Amino acid sequence: MKRFIHIVGLLLVLCVAAVFFMRYADPERDSSASFTNSPSEELLLVNADNPLPQDYRHENLINLYDQKNKHFQLAKADIEVCEAVYQAMDAMFAAAQKDGVKGFIITSGYRSREEQKEVFSTSADGISAKPGESEHETGLAFDVTAYGNENFELTPQFQWLSKHCAEYGFIIRYPKDKEDVTGVPFEPWHYRYVGTPHAKEIMDEGITLEEYLERQ
Ligand SMILES: [Zn+2]
Repeated sequence: MKRFIHIVGLLLVLCVAAVFFMRYADPERDSSASFTNSPSEELLLVNADNPLPQDYRHENLINLYDQKNKHFQLAKADIEVCEAVYQAMDAMFAAAQKDGVKGFIITSGYRSREEQKEVFSTSADGISAKPGESEHETGLAFDVTAYGNENFELTPQFQWLSKHCAEYGFIIRYPKDKEDVTGVPFEPWHYRYVGTPHAKEIMDEGITLEEYLERQ
């Protein structure tokens, strides 16, 4: 009997070991795991050299209109972002309002591959990212503007965001004079969520996500 229990025990250990091996040795499972809403996704790099996979889809999205948020306005009713990004936006724009800086209008969030195709096909050459190369397809970025201002860079809203966005996990993804690194001209209106510790380091040092990831 004792011997029988030993054999069953040994078989159980072997089964568990086999399951673990199959789980972690499967390369497909590993690559898909990096596209869930995990901390590693916060640092997901999307640019012309690093396009998103053809079948990339984000699932954990929420509609901003449904949130009835009082700290920012919306340019349209169908803007979505990842849930973690919404929480960070809510805290950030509430803090801005507390500081007397209001009038933010969110103009864009998540875009599906099809929507990015549409944006790309209707914009002038070089102004919009190609489908698969836009951060908007991740749900981790949003565009913002301010009431009554053509040039967002000159607004108090931009001044506030550039000073405080990192405290809430956001970076100015395409800073001034960094086009040679990012491949994109200065975009004062585009904010990308990377999480607070990363954002603080990136913004404090005035570097790009590309430069930050290079030294990890
Ligand atoms: Zn944008």
